Amino acid sequence: MNVNANVNGEALRQRFEAGMMHNYGTPPLALARGEGSRVWDLDGNRYLDLIAGIAVSALGHAHPSIVKAVTDQVGKIAHTSNLFLHEPGVLLAEKLRSLLHQDARVFFCNSGTEANEAALKVVRRKQGQQRPVIVAADHSFHGRTMGALAITGKESIRAPFAPFGFDVRWVEYGDADALHKAVDDKVAAVFLEPTQGEGGVIPAPAGYLEEARQACDNAGALLVLDEIQSGIGRTGAWFAHQAEGVTPDVMTLAKGLGGGLPIGATIGFGECGAALVAGDHGSTFGGNPVACAAALAVIDTIEKENILGNVKAVGETLANGIAAIDHPLLSGVRGSGLWLGAVLTEPKAPAVNTAARQAGFLVNAVQPDVVRIAPPLILTQAEAAEFIGAFPAILSKAQEPEA
Ligand SMILES: *Cc1c(COP(=O)(O)O)cnc(C)c1O
Repeated sequence: MNVNANVNGEALRQRFEAGMMHNYGTPPLALARGEGSRVWDLDGNRYLDLIAGIAVSALGHAHPSIVKAVTDQVGKIAHTSNLFLHEPGVLLAEKLRSLLHQDARVFFCNSGTEANEAALKVVRRKQGQQRPVIVAADHSFHGRTMGALAITGKESIRAPFAPFGFDVRWVEYGDADALHKAVDDKVAAVFLEPTQGEGGVIPAPAGYLEEARQACDNAGALLVLDEIQSGIGRTGAWFAHQAEGVTPDVMTLAKGLGGGLPIGATIGFGECGAALVAGDHGSTFGGNPVACAAALAVIDTIEKENILGNVKAVGETLANGIAAIDHPLLSGVRGSGLWLGAVLTEPKAPAVNTAARQAGFLVNAVQPDVVRIAPPLILTQAEAAEFIGAFPAILSKAQEPEA
């Protein structure tokens, strides 16, 4: 079957509903192409992309360095399986180790949830069977497969699929005392996001990760930081934990790592890097040469073009610009780098999302009262200013009765 150049968005939506499972609500928009931080829909409308495929397209769309890396690699060898070595995979592991300045080893997979599944296996291997409990936080998100879902603190998506394979002890995110109480000698590991992304871009309170490290050390538990959304420059640091001066035992990555190509990574620090032995885990596609080549291009480009500096500078412009807006629907803004939650005074995030789209901006209603902004890390000052200028009218539109 050919891709029809004349297909329109509405026709594609109908075919989507007929042919695909209904695990997603049908998206309102079909995207056809992108360039930098702009995307075009099938009907030819242009948008400023402030969500980047859920914090994934770190270099925006069709970035020449990714296009070249992927094209070159697919023209050499696209897939080897784990039966054979390939250079892009080893190079990427070495690159990640050098960014971490730590003794660490890497396992590659294809997605965030898989990275957390591998982290769970590292934890079980390292801690044995005598510590059956995992501590996880309310409102956390760690993925949709059965292990990662078990530690995801959102009842509505977890409960229909229970029971799960291990005991989970829930703590309120950000409450260090609760964490100290919860982590005892039955606990194998604590899983935390440095900022809760799907929860609504909720940063950990100052010192919380340090307390988590301390609680784990006191009880002999492992600290697993899920940096799937926060990693690879999103907050302005390579990894969010680096800005906190806290080293985890295990870290998971995905989203921004491949710049749009599917890749995840589980990184074990120190002894956790050696916990898995031959035969313990695997993935046929994981760390495939094309995805690794894309990830190398992402990291090289961030380094060469000082994109972390851009994240800090443009992130500050966006956060300050939104904070300065005086509007009855807007209560404030939180987050760091190019990763912000605009918090509303009413649960009208879906209406803001729609009004933004109609005004030519793609954002995300991450919670009923939180609008997530996670643009490409290459967003320019001018593009940020464009959104700040348009946001008050978008908020007003969202407050109209029919919205
Ligand atoms: C997106 C996300 C995941 C899951 O990643 P998938 O690639 O969708 O499986 C896990 N943890 C965090 C913090 C995420 O943001």
